[in-house]
Amino acid sequence: MSDVVELSNFIAGQWQPPQCQHWIENFSPATGEHIANIPCSSSEDIDLAVEAALDAAEQWSQFSINERADWLEKIADELEQRTDEIAQLESLDTGKPITLARNVDAARSVANFRFFANQGREFESEIFEMSDATNRVLYKPVGVAGLITPWNLPLYLLSWKVAPALLMGNTIVAKPSEMTPMTASLLAEVIEDVGLPRGVFNLVHGNGLDAGAPLTAHPDINLISFTGGTATGREVAKSASSGFKKLSLELGGKNATIIREDVDIESMMPGIVRASFLNQGQVCLCGSRILIHESIYDVFVEAFLNAVNDMIVGDPADDETELGALISAAHRDKVMSYIDLAEEEGGDILCGGGPPVGIPDAFANGFWISPTVIDGLTPDSRCATEEIFGPVVTLHPFSDDGEAIEIANMTDYGLAGSIWTQDVDAGSRMAEQIESGMVWVNCWLHRDLRVPFGGVKHSGVGREGGRWSLSFFSEAVNICVKRE
Ligand code: NAD
Repeated sequence: MSDVVELSNFIAGQWQPPQCQHWIENFSPATGEHIANIPCSSSEDIDLAVEAALDAAEQWSQFSINERADWLEKIADELEQRTDEIAQLESLDTGKPITLARNVDAARSVANFRFFANQGREFESEIFEMSDATNRVLYKPVGVAGLITPWNLPLYLLSWKVAPALLMGNTIVAKPSEMTPMTASLLAEVIEDVGLPRGVFNLVHGNGLDAGAPLTAHPDINLISFTGGTATGREVAKSASSGFKKLSLELGGKNATIIREDVDIESMMPGIVRASFLNQGQVCLCGSRILIHESIYDVFVEAFLNAVNDMIVGDPADDETELGALISAAHRDKVMSYIDLAEEEGGDILCGGGPPVGIPDAFANGFWISPTVIDGLTPDSRCATEEIFGPVVTLHPFSDDGEAIEIANMTDYGLAGSIWTQDVDAGSRMAEQIESGMVWVNCWLHRDLRVPFGGVKHSGVGREGGRWSLSFFSEAVNICVKRE
């Protein structure tokens, strides 16, 4: 796919160029090639999209939740037909391995629509009886939802927001990351093809300052669901607060992977490596700090390095590839600056630390870093407490469970964590003391879509997932009727 694609906004059921006629260049992370031009939208485009969403709001809210569930099912069916295309576009746009794009990104995007369709069909409003009155809780749409998503799991995260927002009767203005626009446009095509009423779903491409900020500030946006970095989340929260908008923030993480002394190293290693480096370490949940009991430190580190060195880094289109490219030159430079900082902070680079050796010429201009393991840093160093969001993990010894918990909690973040042990009771007890929204024991990113998802501390505000999404994307209204 060497032709440069030109994408458009999708507003009121029409494909439109940006009002200002400015465009942003989009690059393939694997090759550095210019692959697309996307609208550099501004407040004028946001105004049009919000107007379209407002115009469509009444009609959409009149559908029953079961009818809206049927629409989600149609979208899921159509997306499923286009699974291969989604996987290819996602791999091209993000630099991630095609197998990951197929098995995780494409599969989960379909699953998100089906899951929320089922949630809608099972949904029941509550009745609370009093001795002399009946309370009936209604779940009304909030209004126009502004949905802002990052580049690491583009359609996966966009569909995670679009599906429950539609189900609960809201209309939408979505702004995906300017670095990964492709599958958001594909979703808009699918929505057009299934015939969703015009204006219910609007897509505005563009960057954060020109398109994202006007969306969060727009007075007719009633709800914002944002996934992205913590610093951006802070700006979004400020912008949303003056209008008392409903707000969900899914932000950054610096998650600990805790290896207890009784771990079965061999059987757990694939899971631990996956937690460290999935999607080149560009998953908010990745375990970028590995805390290892001192009694098994050397044995574990040797086995871990062997496993990391065996990973296949290279052509994202190859089914064998396990690690691809980083999202952009700027992000690659940011990650490299942390590797340099680690050396200044006294760390030893045990493997990686730069571009992979022997990468084919076709990828010479892409944005690559091989999986990097750093030892010898103090747990309160910058590299061990700040989010790097790349294929970089730091290793730290601990002497007992208490110290492991203390180190795990030593960051401003509180998104996720994992504990690896043969003593699941001890692991579960430790999990309760980790300050984060999600902790896995002997697994990682093992997702049941019904459970709450979100972070504490600087990792976010609010929860999405299952009934938490239904509640966030609706206004619960109580009607109390007194009996004679
Ligand atoms: P980012 O914060 O730079 O951008 C996210 C989105 O916000 C993009 O669409 C961007 O255009 C938009 N944006 C930027 N500035 C804005 C502004 N002032 N107002 C409104 N919108 C604005 O994040 P990113 O680099 O795209 O993604 C990586 C970050 O996302 C990491 O920190 C990662 O941990 C986090 N993340 C969190 C989760 C989670 O569920 N907690 C999931 C995935 C990624």
